[in-house]
Amino acid sequence: MDKIKQRIDELINKINKASYEYYALDEPTITDQEYDDYYMELLSLEEKYPELKRKDSPTNRVGGVVLEKFEKVTHNTPMLSFDDIFNEEELELFDERIRKVVNNPTYTLEPKMDGLSGSLIYKNGILVRGATRGDGITGEDITENIKTIKSIPLKLTKDIDIEVRGEIYMSKLSFEKANVERRKKGENEFANPRNAAAGSVRQLDSSIASKRNLDYMAYFIPNPEDYGLKTQSDSLKFLKELGFKTNYKLNGYAHNTKDIEKYINNLSTIRKELPFAIDGVVLKVDSLDDEKKLGFTARVPRWGIAYKFPAEEVLTTLKEIKYTVGRTGKITPNAIFSPVHVDGSLVSKATLHNFDYIKEKDIRVGDIISVRKAGDVIPEVVEVKLDRRQDDSKETIMITNCPICNSNLVKKDANHFCTNDKCDSRKIEGLIHFVSRKAMNIDGFGERIVEDFYNMNYIKSIDDFYTLYKYKDELKTLEGFGEKSIDNLIGSIENSKNNSLERLIFALGIRYVGDKTAKILSMNYKTIDNIINADYDSLKEIDDIGEKIASSIVDYFNDENNINLINKLKELGLNMNYLGKEINTSNENINGKTFVITGTLSLPRDEIKEKIESLGGKVTSSVTKKTDYVIVGESPGSKEAKAKELNITILNEEDYNNLIM
Ligand SMILES: [Zn+2]
Repeated sequence: MDKIKQRIDELINKINKASYEYYALDEPTITDQEYDDYYMELLSLEEKYPELKRKDSPTNRVGGVVLEKFEKVTHNTPMLSFDDIFNEEELELFDERIRKVVNNPTYTLEPKMDGLSGSLIYKNGILVRGATRGDGITGEDITENIKTIKSIPLKLTKDIDIEVRGEIYMSKLSFEKANVERRKKGENEFANPRNAAAGSVRQLDSSIASKRNLDYMAYFIPNPEDYGLKTQSDSLKFLKELGFKTNYKLNGYAHNTKDIEKYINNLSTIRKELPFAIDGVVLKVDSLDDEKKLGFTARVPRWGIAYKFPAEEVLTTLKEIKYTVGRTGKITPNAIFSPVHVDGSLVSKATLHNFDYIKEKDIRVGDIISVRKAGDVIPEVVEVKLDRRQDDSKETIMITNCPICNSNLVKKDANHFCTNDKCDSRKIEGLIHFVSRKAMNIDGFGERIVEDFYNMNYIKSIDDFYTLYKYKDELKTLEGFGEKSIDNLIGSIENSKNNSLERLIFALGIRYVGDKTAKILSMNYKTIDNIINADYDSLKEIDDIGEKIASSIVDYFNDENNINLINKLKELGLNMNYLGKEINTSNENINGKTFVITGTLSLPRDEIKEKIESLGGKVTSSVTKKTDYVIVGESPGSKEAKAKELNITILNEEDYNNLIM
């Protein structure tokens, strides 16, 4: 037995070493064949002698543990992110601020990985927990999924207790592969590697996460002094020694802004060739003593900053303008262009919003256009390269009939609408909206599936979702659906019956009623019957509900078809009540008032926010004339000044505590 145990230890060492060289250093010393041989030998020994299987065995990486849900975990020290800057001027200002406290600072420069940060905890050198950042204070326990990431050592080279932070990401190659798979299955493609990584670590079934080939780049140790480290660059070296993948080939140093800019420019030139997506550079003051001197503001460290690359603009050719019809009948023109990579994801279409937008930019088929990602993921057309326009190009003319049902279009404000209530496209859009994440949140329904089920007559109206189980056996025989996926689908449909009222209200697709309005309605009226019976005037009395929304709600519930639908849904067992927290409106100092919180307080901000909201107040992020109170903690910054300027009542923590009594 001892001999077998010894052989298992030997094999694990060999495999771990090979993995480290391959995944972390990118410098393999053994062939794939040798690796496979070791792995298979280990696997068969573990099968024969399960009692000898080690917790940190690399065979654990295939996943297979399926969780009910993710447990919440509280981070030992908050996971703060850095402030963003976007240009050289802001960089100069950052450097100036540092120099007020630190003489001749040295900066470490690291590529800013475009993934999501993850915390790893090791006890005695063994990985015991992996967690997402969450809101920085609490995250989710994703240990099972973390174990499937091959560049994360299950056992460190030293038997120490340590927390390590870094970025969970998906390489560009794995991202393309994952999308090919999704296209095949008719699922929505991931918009970019970051979304793909985020979606993958949140899989309850770790074997799915395992297949996604996630990666991990370590970059931070929360309490470096515990390990005798004196600089951030020492931390990075130490992480590498422990067996982590670090960006050691790309990281750099600088002593002044000129060198920082040089580094940023270099990195932005080679960015496209890198195997992973990056979206900027992280600068940190290298000396940990200096970092201590600089400290933190209420929400961010002062000793570092993230310099974000400007949104990438890419030229392509506009091939077609395609019109789609939304669930309200709204016609949206979309630019269809030759596929191009923008900020790490492949895009081939962008919204053109409405016809006025096309006219204003004079967008024509055949034009060379520049596109970029607006906000986070939605691509937009920035401009037309007029000097490259072809002589025979023709001005774009708005369509006059619905592309789906051929009914006439009418123009309201900037938008065109299909006048046919029964237009197929509107129905499909409405069904897609019903199952979407912010609405009923029915997992497993991609747009394509809804469309297919509509065309195959399984789902023609909202209530059909809840009778879909009748066709269970039939559905299982459809191409592309397995028994399991249909069972899952039916399961998530059943679960959605228990949703709180606001989801249903939003899912119904009442014009102008977004998810926020749905929540406000549900909180105020508590049951769907109360909302149905509410008249225009009482609706309008509610803050945030104006004339347009109020009359749209009244119109919707005056329509007999809609009432019939709701009655059907009631019979099918859908919850029609608001299940959220009760709001106590008895404290007039808080109820209906708007607060802004700034500076460091002894209570976490989320807690204060929750308290205020539970008393009917609202917490917003910026000080405006509408703000009633600004709660000010230590080192408050510009918001306090703004409050003084606007003559808004300022509360310290004690005042606040008195107010909520
Ligand atoms: Zn139509």
